[in-house]
Amino acid sequence: MAHITDEEIKFLEQFRSEGVLEDINTKRVDASRGAILVTCADGDQMADVFQQTEHLSFRLHTLSLNGGGLILPEESPANILLTPPDCSKQIKLGDVFLGQIITARALKNINLIALHVHCPCGVAGAFKIGPRELIALLVAAKDRIKKSIPGIKVCAFIHIAWPDGRKRTYFVSREKWRAYSIK
Ligand SMILES: [Zn+2]
Repeated sequence: MAHITDEEIKFLEQFRSEGVLEDINTKRVDASRGAILVTCADGDQMADVFQQTEHLSFRLHTLSLNGGGLILPEESPANILLTPPDCSKQIKLGDVFLGQIITARALKNINLIALHVHCPCGVAGAFKIGPRELIALLVAAKDRIKKSIPGIKVCAFIHIAWPDGRKRTYFVSREKWRAYSIK
């Protein structure tokens, strides 16, 4: 089981104080037709992620793979190549996930993606993805979804299991991240 490190705590607290991680304001989001929840499959956090996202919408269409939003960007180290059985052609995990998001949107006529990464995440740990890269990849995942599905609304979130036992989900502001990351 992944544990949050002191370095991660330091950065995440800094992101909070800089306004990169905001409290969720459900009034700013139109989730009237539901939301496609894209999240890591971590069974220690899933119930909490689901419960907190239900504040956004009770109609959640959940797509869950190890790493969640982390595996979507082309440049992500967690977006690995897969070799399907009986198939000579390799495919990228992120392309599979993106394909499922596109299909879910068409099947359910939902125009909102609740895109998640979380900390501590076993996949982030395995690929040595630190807090800055975690947020950068979340923003890159948002950009990729928006580019692939014109007109889609994507809200980016990070779920944090703090060492004192609190579990919280924060909205990640793309603009504030970009302003912060070039400092
Ligand atoms: Zn995870």
